[in-house]
Amino acid sequence: MKHLSLLSSLLVVLSLLLACSVSARKPIKTLIITGQNNHNWQVSHVALKQILENSGRFTVDFAISPSKGQDMSKFIIDFTPYQLVVLDYNGDSWPEETNHRFLTYVQNGGGVVVYHAADNAFSKWPEYNEICALGGWEGRNEKSGPYVYWEDGKLVKDSSVGPGGSHGKQHEFVLTRRYQENPIMKGLPYQWRHAKDELYDHMRGPGNIKDILYTAFAEKDMNGSGREEPLIFTVDYGKARIFHTMLGHAGESLENNIAMQCTGFQVLFLRGAEWAATGKVTQKIPADFPTATQCTYRLNYKEK
Ligand code: ZN
Repeated sequence: MKHLSLLSSLLVVLSLLLACSVSARKPIKTLIITGQNNHNWQVSHVALKQILENSGRFTVDFAISPSKGQDMSKFIIDFTPYQLVVLDYNGDSWPEETNHRFLTYVQNGGGVVVYHAADNAFSKWPEYNEICALGGWEGRNEKSGPYVYWEDGKLVKDSSVGPGGSHGKQHEFVLTRRYQENPIMKGLPYQWRHAKDELYDHMRGPGNIKDILYTAFAEKDMNGSGREEPLIFTVDYGKARIFHTMLGHAGESLENNIAMQCTGFQVLFLRGAEWAATGKVTQKIPADFPTATQCTYRLNYKEK
C-alpha cells in the first residue's frame, strides 16, 4: 500500500513536470511594431520575424503603421494578446490611445525589446525615453538626460551639453561583457566580434540602465566618440522586462543585411527577447557563436 501511494505521488510529480515542460515550449506571442523608420523597415521587420520564428520559441504578428505624414488616428494597437513587443518603429506619433495602451502593457510587466533606431523615436515622450533608457537624434540634447558610457569599470553619467546620438563609419567591432548575472548572459563569452554595423555613441537619456550586458569601444579613427559605449542592456522600469540592443542596422535586402545576419546579433536578440517575455532563457549557446576575433553569419536567419 505504502509503495502504491509512493508510486502514484511519483506519477503526479512526473505529469506535473511534463505539463510544465509542455507549457514552457508554447511559442511566445510576439508583436513587432513597424511601418515608419529612417531605416529600411521593410527589410528589418521581416528579418526579425524570421530570426524569432526560426528559433521555434516565438510566433510573430506585425502592427504596420500608416506611412509618414498619413492619418495615424486608426493605428490603435491591442497589446493584450502579447507576451512580447518588439519596437522597430521611428516615425510619427502614435495616437494617444495607443500610447496609453502601450504604457499600460509595459507598466503591467510586459516584455519589450528596443531594437536599433527605435531608440531614436519619440524624443518628446518622457515615458518612452525611460523605457529606452538611452536614445539619440531627433533633437535630443542635455535636456534629454546625461550621456552614459563605461569608464573605469562602471557606467558614468556625464551631463555636459551637446547633441544626443551619433555614429562613425560602419565597421566590425568587438563587444565586451560587463555584467554576467542576467540569464541572457549565461554561457556567453567575455568578448565577441560583431559584423560590420553602426556603433551608436553619444547616446543620452534618463540613463536608467539596469544590467549593462555588453559595451564596445567607439574608435576615434572610425569617427567614433573614443568612449566605451553601452550597446546591449536591460532597463530599470517598474515591473517591466525591457531588453535594448542598439545593434542591427538594416541592409538593402534580406540577402544583403550583414549586421542582422551576424550570429551574435541574432543570438543576443533571441535571448533578450525570451528573457523579456518570460524572465528566463531556455536557449543554448550555439556552436557557431562568434569568437573575439571571428565574425560568424547566418545568411538565411536560421540556426546552423
Ligand atoms: Zn542604423
